[in-house]
Amino acid sequence: MPFAPCSRLIVENRYDAAGMGESLTLVPVGVGAAYGRADEAQSSYLVRAGERSLCLDLGAGALNRLCEHLPPERLEAVVVTHLHPDHMADLLALRVYMAWGPGQGSRLRVLGPRGLRERLVAFTDEHGWDEGLAFEELGSHRDEVDLGGGLVLRFAEVPHTPPTYAVRIDWGGKSICYGADCEPNDALPRLAEGCDVLLLECSFGAEPVPAGVPHLQAQDAARIARRAGARRLVLTHCYPEFDRDAALAAASRDAGVPVEWAVAGETVRA
Ligand SMILES: [Zn+2]
Repeated sequence: MPFAPCSRLIVENRYDAAGMGESLTLVPVGVGAAYGRADEAQSSYLVRAGERSLCLDLGAGALNRLCEHLPPERLEAVVVTHLHPDHMADLLALRVYMAWGPGQGSRLRVLGPRGLRERLVAFTDEHGWDEGLAFEELGSHRDEVDLGGGLVLRFAEVPHTPPTYAVRIDWGGKSICYGADCEPNDALPRLAEGCDVLLLECSFGAEPVPAGVPHLQAQDAARIARRAGARRLVLTHCYPEFDRDAALAAASRDAGVPVEWAVAGETVRA
């Protein structure tokens, strides 16, 4: 099977050149929602903790972009927050990369909700999913994962398609919290308490979220950031028909802290 190893495309010095080798940073890889702008991959975020990295979600189009930052087999883990395709579809591509591509010989941890592996096996109607990927189930029995070296993940279930897990990453006295997809809730501000960077979906811009739809819009996100006492709010996962400038203005009015949109490839330092 011919492969053009994406590791050849890596600009490995980008990170070190930015002088962030000892920082906790967030690098948006895919910032789109379930559909998006032509230049957007779906949900995916790279977290760098010193020399170590992990990936939060891997929606469609994200793997190729992730490969521009590092070879995926060097990740500590991929964290999947929930089973909606725009947060996990590129596991289909990652499996090929790890089993038969440049990742061959490595095994990458995939932390996700119950049913993730079964969903992928059913989609492909193939076994062999354990060759390059090691699936680990999150849940109430496991709401903290210590990756060693002071890199700790904490999870909280949030209301969206059940189960959906928000995740907080602590390392070196800094913290990043990612709310996954969710409607307003009490668990997320608790998990995010005092975090340096809070990454929240803003599916509907500054417009009202339709009744019964478990998502956030700008003022919701701002209120969560304020309740959590987060130091900085980063918005993402907005559908293309909504006005992002208006959303930024609305969130900035209510959050009381700096607010910005996640931009693919633009590093946010915790
Ligand atoms: Zn979702």
